[in-house]
Amino acid sequence: MTYLKFYQKDKEVFFKEKQIILGEKDVKKLANKMARHFKFKILFVKVKNLKSSLGLAYPYGIILARRNINLYTFCHELAHCYQWQYNKNRRHNKKLRRTITKFLRYCNKMEYWRKEQ
Ligand SMILES: [Zn+2]
Repeated sequence: MTYLKFYQKDKEVFFKEKQIILGEKDVKKLANKMARHFKFKILFVKVKNLKSSLGLAYPYGIILARRNINLYTFCHELAHCYQWQYNKNRRHNKKLRRTITKFLRYCNKMEYWRKEQ
């Protein structure tokens, strides 16, 4: 599945999560918390002025676009790291979506970002 198709589908499924905007400090804290909880490694979380995408994922870190850090994109990029470390897979497939869903469920339960404000 291409990135666009995947993203298009998730736009409808995760509409609510895309409305939740996170702060720059929050994503760093939350990423560390999730890495500990789900037992994977995150070496960096950067926020930059990306032009052509909302986020980028590396095997051990993510970069998020400053103009739109939302809960869904954050979990999406983080899920790529997790998938890479556990399955050596970067693709947009069912496993990735399962991981995204798992991450979002955790975040929704914690409501961590809300406590920070
Ligand atoms: Zn992706």
